[in-house]
Order: sequence, then C-alpha cells, then structure tokens
Amino acid sequence: MPHIVLATKHQKSRWIAPYLEPLGYQIRESDAFDTDSLGTFSGEIARTCSPEQAALTKAKQACEYSNAAFGLGSEGSFGGGPYFGLVNFNTELLCLYQRDTNTAIYGHAAGPFSPISLPIEHHTTAQTIAEKLAKFEQQHWILTLPHTLEKGLSLDELLARFTYHLPSSGKITPDLRAMHSPERQTMIANAAKDLARRLTSFCLQCKAANFVIKKAIAGLICSQCSLPTKQVKHHLIACDHCQHSCVVPSNNALADPTYCQICNP
Ligand SMILES: [Zn+2]
Ligand SMILES: [Zn+2]
Repeated sequence: MPHIVLATKHQKSRWIAPYLEPLGYQIRESDAFDTDSLGTFSGEIARTCSPEQAALTKAKQACEYSNAAFGLGSEGSFGGGPYFGLVNFNTELLCLYQRDTNTAIYGHAAGPFSPISLPIEHHTTAQTIAEKLAKFEQQHWILTLPHTLEKGLSLDELLARFTYHLPSSGKITPDLRAMHSPERQTMIANAAKDLARRLTSFCLQCKAANFVIKKAIAGLICSQCSLPTKQVKHHLIACDHCQHSCVVPSNNALADPTYCQICNP
C-alpha cells in the first residue's frame, strides 16, 4: 500500500485521509519540516512564493525528510475571489508529489469564508463580541491588544478576556490555522475530494492519472444572432504525461443572448 507523508503542523490528515484511504493510500503526518517557514496567516512570516510553489515545496520536503515515495503539501490562502472586497474567499490547494517520477497533481477547492474580524473600541464588551461571533461555531480567534497577541482562543476563552477588564483598542481576527477553523476544514476536505477525483481519472492512452478538464474554450454560439460568445463551448481534457487530449462539448448547446456582446453589449 503506497504511503503518503503529509507535511503539517496542524493535524490536517483527518480531513484528507477519508478521501485518499479508500484509494489505497496510507497517510502519515510529519512535522519534521517547519511548514510555517513558508509563511503564516497571522503574518509573523510573510509568504513570498505562490500557493502552488508553497504546496509543492512542502510535498517535496515531506518526501525528503521521511524518505517516502509520495509527499503531500497543503496550502490555504485568503482573499481575492469573484466577490472581491465583499466577502472573504478561501482557496485550498493540495499537492501530491511522486518522487520517482518527479510529478505533482494538485487538488483544489475554493469558496466564500464567513468568519469576520472585529475592531476593539471603547464600547466593545463581551456581549457585543458574543452577538457578532457566536454564529461562527467552533471557529477560534486571535486577540491582538496593544502589548499582547493570543492565538487559538475559543469564543469562551475570548469572552473571558473581557470579563474584568475592557481593553479600549485592538482587534479580534479569525485564527485561520486548520485545526481552529471549521470552514477551512470543509474546504480542505473538498480539495482532498478533488485530488481523489484526479487520482482516479486515467488517460485513455497511457493510463496516467489526472486526465481531467484542463482548459475551457470559449465560443458558444448565441441563440439569437448565431455569433460566437465568450461562454464556454468546449472543455479540453488533457494528459500531463503523454499529451493525449480530447475535447468535450459544454452542457449548453447555445448561449443565452444575455451573455452575447452583440445582442447585449
Ligand atoms: Zn496519457
Ligand atoms: Zn447574440
């Protein structure tokens, strides 16, 4: 049974293993490589490489430190997304690296992230905090005060800091480390599901995994004027190994004129 070593300091395998173990992989966690050295959410260490590079580096280091055939690296990022500025957005990447072939397959998931940050002002009380944050169940928090910073606080622990003494400035932010953030845990599980899908999609020619949609091709014909639109017409499924590819039509036969640059400029 192939062993995968997961580089993590934050016990992530419990959200990943349920999707990879049914495929015959055994996951083992390793904290031998300090994954925080590639950047932390609380900002003590800035990430200087792309999420893909960070996940790949973690996966390669996991192989190297534990002499395993497969390494798994996980990287989350926040911000961007289709509703930029309106809601926060969480993207999770999982990189499975195979040492003997020097190849990597990435699982991916992204979606809105709802826990909010709160500024602390002179009228902030335990009650006002509870009213705003209680709905984010099991999310843990970071309390930043002028001279202290505490991480991983449960809501009860956070509220206890406001029982006897009310700080008049500072901020409360979600602790984004996986073990402290249920919404991130769901997103990591979704990325693992995507990775499992890729690991079980095989090239028709060479049988390599990750034979999935790699590209969307625009040009769906407008139902009103019959000209091509920017809507997706085809998807390209391609093999990373032998370059075999095939084109599959999108679910729609024609584009809605609402999305046509001629009919609805
Ligand atoms: Zn192939
Ligand atoms: Zn049109």
